[in-house]
Amino acid sequence: MSKMSPKKAFEIVSEFKNVALYLWDNLYNHYDKDTYNALVYAADALKKQIPKKPIPITRNEHATKIIGYGCPNCKKDVIGSGFYCWCCGQRLDWSECDAEIH
Ligand SMILES: [Zn+2]
Repeated sequence: MSKMSPKKAFEIVSEFKNVALYLWDNLYNHYDKDTYNALVYAADALKKQIPKKPIPITRNEHATKIIGYGCPNCKKDVIGSGFYCWCCGQRLDWSECDAEIH
C-alpha cells in the first residue's frame, strides 16, 4: 500500500462530500445527514494533519526578534516543539523555524 499524503486524503474526502450531495440530490432524493456530518468531521480532522508553519511572535509589531510561535490554526501560543498544537491538534511544520526559540 502506498502512503497517501494528508493533503491528498483531505482532497479526496472533501470531493466525496460533494459527490454524496450530488447523488442524494439527483438519484436518491434522500439526504443522509449523519453520513454527511461524518464526512465533514473526517475532512476537518484530515485538514489538521496537513503541516502548517507556526506563526512567529515578536514583542510588538515593529520588533524583529522572534520570542515565540503561535498556532497557524487557532492562534494560541505554541508550547514546546511538538508535532501538534496542544490546543487544536493542528500538525506543525517546524522546518523553517529558529531551533533555539521553540
Ligand atoms: Zn492550534
